[in-house]
Amino acid sequence: MQPFSYERAEDEQQAVAMASSHPEARFISGGTNLLDLMKLGVERPTHLIDISRLPLARIESTEDNGLRIGAQVRNSDLAADPQVRSRYPLLAQALLAGASGQIRNKASTAGNLLQRTRCYYFYDRNMPCNKREPGSGCAALEGFNRMHAVLGGSAACIAVHPSDMAVAMAALDASVETLSADGNERRIPLAELHQLPGEDPHVETSLAHGEMITAVTLPPPPAGRQVYRKVRDRASYAFALVSVAIIASASGGRIEHARIAMGGVAAKPWRTLDIEQALSAAPASARTCSETAEAALEGAQGYGGNDFKIPLAKRTLRHTLATAIEPV
Ligand SMILES: Cc1cc2nc3c(=O)[nH]c(=O)nc-3n(C[C@H](O)[C@H](O)[C@H](O)COP(=O)(O)OP(=O)(O)OC[C@H]3O[C@@H](n4cnc5c(N)ncnc54)[C@H](O)[C@@H]3O)c2cc1C
Ligand code: SF4
Repeated sequence: MQPFSYERAEDEQQAVAMASSHPEARFISGGTNLLDLMKLGVERPTHLIDISRLPLARIESTEDNGLRIGAQVRNSDLAADPQVRSRYPLLAQALLAGASGQIRNKASTAGNLLQRTRCYYFYDRNMPCNKREPGSGCAALEGFNRMHAVLGGSAACIAVHPSDMAVAMAALDASVETLSADGNERRIPLAELHQLPGEDPHVETSLAHGEMITAVTLPPPPAGRQVYRKVRDRASYAFALVSVAIIASASGGRIEHARIAMGGVAAKPWRTLDIEQALSAAPASARTCSETAEAALEGAQGYGGNDFKIPLAKRTLRHTLATAIEPV
């Protein structure tokens, strides 16, 4: 690990001011991702700003009857929160499907959203990786790419975003609130937080250097059933091969509305807005579920080792949608 300096922020303004005065600074929250990457020399910050004790660990109702989740809320506390369990069960299901109890006790809401890819070549400094070292190449394209993207990839990178929580939050239409050193506050829809790789896979989010996430807000949940399904190599403690988050309602044999987000298939939670719109008033039938799954994976591309993800994602989506719309 390369040497670095460390300081603990006492408040939000101080944290962003500290970050802006160090070009290679990083915030550290639970440290469950950043420290691993620092030990491997993949992340090499010269300065760490500890934000774990900032007073951003509250979960509170918003004026529009949604939920505001502080950036420091631990994943385990969020999954156990009574409002989350009763009104946003999709989020609780996704959180509990991720990592282990010990890691969820440390992992923060913002840190989970900003965790980095689990691509093996990204972790291996002996291998080319455009995300770790821009311009060096991508070992995964013709290498071992079983975990990699089938949607939204590029000739420069086919890594996936590993967060389960982010997939649920995408389906719930979440936004992140941020603060910058100049005092500027922004609200960024979750759909615009993570970037597809294009030619610059090292640019992963729409955040500027030193911009800190202070909270995630959820609008009131739409009516209907919420289902998160994660397919992985082991029953626990494994990242998603494919995951699907669906919120849908059906009545009188017709789908009223549906929201769909997929994980494990792209560098960001994958929403299918046009397909969701087409589902409004569609028959609540097995055929609709099959056609939706085919449409959602249209244009998907495998790279050999991950070809299996395309039929797997279709089956998972079809089955999850069928579960979400089945009669009560
Ligand atoms: C063995 C193992 C298994 C796992 N399995 C899963 C899984 O199945 N599903 C899953 O979703 N996750 C899984 N994880 C990942 C885990 O959820 C993340 O490591 C964790 O959520 C990161 O949160 P953290 O607070 O520890 O982040 P940190 O490691 O502290 O930070 C991560 C990144 O976020 C940045 N950051 C943190 N807070 C802020 C902020 N407020 N504003 C701006 N930047 C910020 C940091 O600078 C850093 O770049 C697993 C991790 C491990 C080690
Ligand atoms: S897929 Fe992306 S993260 Fe993985 S080796 Fe290629 S460039 Fe690096």
